[in-house]
Amino acid sequence: MNTETIVIRSDADFPHLERAGEILRTSGLVAFPTETVYGLGGNALDKTASKKIYAAKGRPSDNPLIVHIATPEEAEKYCITNKLYYELASSFMPGPLTIILPKKYIDGIPVIPDETTGGLDSVAIRCPADPIAHKLIVYADVPIAAPSANTSGSPSPTSATHVIHDLNNKIDMIIDGGESVFGLESTVIRIDGDTIYLLRPGAVTAEQLSIFANKLVIADEHLKEGEQPLSPGMKYKHYAPSKPLYLVSGDEELVLDFFKEKQKEENCAIICYDEDAKFLNPDNLFLLGKQRDLLSHAHRLFDFLRKTDVTDTSVIYARLPSKEGIGLALYNRLIRAAGHNIINLK
Ligand code: AMP
Ligand code: MG
Repeated sequence: MNTETIVIRSDADFPHLERAGEILRTSGLVAFPTETVYGLGGNALDKTASKKIYAAKGRPSDNPLIVHIATPEEAEKYCITNKLYYELASSFMPGPLTIILPKKYIDGIPVIPDETTGGLDSVAIRCPADPIAHKLIVYADVPIAAPSANTSGSPSPTSATHVIHDLNNKIDMIIDGGESVFGLESTVIRIDGDTIYLLRPGAVTAEQLSIFANKLVIADEHLKEGEQPLSPGMKYKHYAPSKPLYLVSGDEELVLDFFKEKQKEENCAIICYDEDAKFLNPDNLFLLGKQRDLLSHAHRLFDFLRKTDVTDTSVIYARLPSKEGIGLALYNRLIRAAGHNIINLK
């Protein structure tokens, strides 16, 4: 299949999205930018389109897709909403928050087909803030099912270049809208009465959510033997680089000494902060931004995971993030990529 790529850089380019909308209405697949990562979109109401998404990504068919809508109220057509949904929507939608709600049935038939939701009786709803994503949903005039636009098992794409690398010639169209602002996938939550279950941390933080909930339960990274995950995505192996990745924690001085030593001893790539650069050899150094600028770390992380893995180094070391604010999302992605390998310097 020949994949068409279109570039959108300003409102003046928006009319090009009309064709993308038409592709979506006719069971085709379109990769598009969002404020979190690039999504691989298909009509959420169309079984054929959903099946094509799973095939293009190589995604297990029981791992449900997030349904993207233009306004929070549109959820009424597909789900059973509640008061807490609207309270959260008024603060975080449009934005990087996905909320799982019970499915709506008409005459015993679910409005969103089982093929889109991995057979579950719930639907994950998101209302993206990115203007291109928003306009695309409006033009398509259907809800858009979209997982991240990468091959299953590779880091989520944060630029059209990443999408082209993984999906060129497997889908109908790629919309190049520049780099994703946040660079990490959306926060995913399930609401049950006035309890919020945080299934995947993201740019909407646990601290922000806790204000709305009587109780906030943060899903554990480690599944115990035989335990059912709160979300199917939690049971799948996540991106792991082809070479060993270690997360390093400890006092500033100890971490820097460790990096300096490793650079002398072995051919390694290091993912660290701007402030570290003056102490280290610039070869294969990947700077996430200033130490306190967690938004910059999020924005660059997946690109660095792709890049470090194709360097000629034999091992990757990265700073272990704190779990505060967006740090929890960075921690969650890195700890999985590193297979829980942490070097704790004392
Ligand atoms: P991705 O499509 O890569 O952004 O991942 C979406 C995440 O949301 C996966 O971890 C899914 O398992 C999870 N998810 C989507 N829909 C549901 C749902 N109805 N119930 C529970 N988890 C869901
Ligand atoms: Mg994904």
